[in-house]
Amino acid sequence: LVRIEGLHKFFGDHHVLRGIDLTVGRGEVCVVVGPSGSGKSTVLRCVNQLETISAGRILIDDELIGYREQDGRLHDLTPRQIAAQRREVGMVFQRFNLFPHMTALQNVIEAPMQVKGLKRPDAVRRAHELLERVGLADRAGHYPSQLSGGQQQRVAIARALAMDPELMLFDEPTSALDPELVGDVLEVMKDLARSGMTMMVVTHEMGFAREVGDTLIFMDQGAVVESGHPRDVLSNPQNPRTQEFLSKVL
Ligand code: ATP
Ligand code: MG
Repeated sequence: LVRIEGLHKFFGDHHVLRGIDLTVGRGEVCVVVGPSGSGKSTVLRCVNQLETISAGRILIDDELIGYREQDGRLHDLTPRQIAAQRREVGMVFQRFNLFPHMTALQNVIEAPMQVKGLKRPDAVRRAHELLERVGLADRAGHYPSQLSGGQQQRVAIARALAMDPELMLFDEPTSALDPELVGDVLEVMKDLARSGMTMMVVTHEMGFAREVGDTLIFMDQGAVVESGHPRDVLSNPQNPRTQEFLSKVL
């Protein structure tokens, strides 16, 4: 479903991604790990077009992201075309960034109504299903300030799912949470993985990687230095930098 080929990203003259190649099949879970500053968030942000790419290409469902190819040349997409592509991708960040002045339910129905033109009763019905799915059926009327961090993060997941994305990106979704709240969020993510959602997940939760990951990618200094099945990478890392990193997080 996702194909990244020779992806480079510069911020000014800072070469942050140095030729990333990776693929994520439909229904697969790709877990991305690596030290701070290795470029994990930047990869996800490029996939979701929060950053432009400096070189290489990203395809989702065989469709080039951010550009169209014509006569062997790349042409920018219109903002409208980019918005349409971004709708297929849901993203959950470390910070929950829910709309603070809206209840959980309002947070979930907002985009489907505004962006997809869903009728309110339909959006509300669907939002209740999604809140139930993330274990928050009884919190629909609560404001973010009345919810724990873990509950807010589960609302954020429901909100992303409300757009029926093909692909879900998670950038350290549990690392801002108190330890006792992490489990509920991971359970929701595992359910989602088992239901067949294609996911790219930046996390240090190796239990999650082992349980539902199809591939584990280790990044260092803007490059993928090791990748494979989580079982293999975790039990028998080949690269010294992977070994060193894993010895710290395991
Ligand atoms: P962390 O584990 O700390 O979240 P990361 O692997 O997600 O790290 P990125 O956030 O992708 O790393 O950052 C990779 C590099 O790009 C870092 O050196 C960072 O300082 C730099 N960088 C990221 N965003 C920008 C930006 N908007 N402008 C300039 N430099 C940036
Ligand atoms: Mg990051």
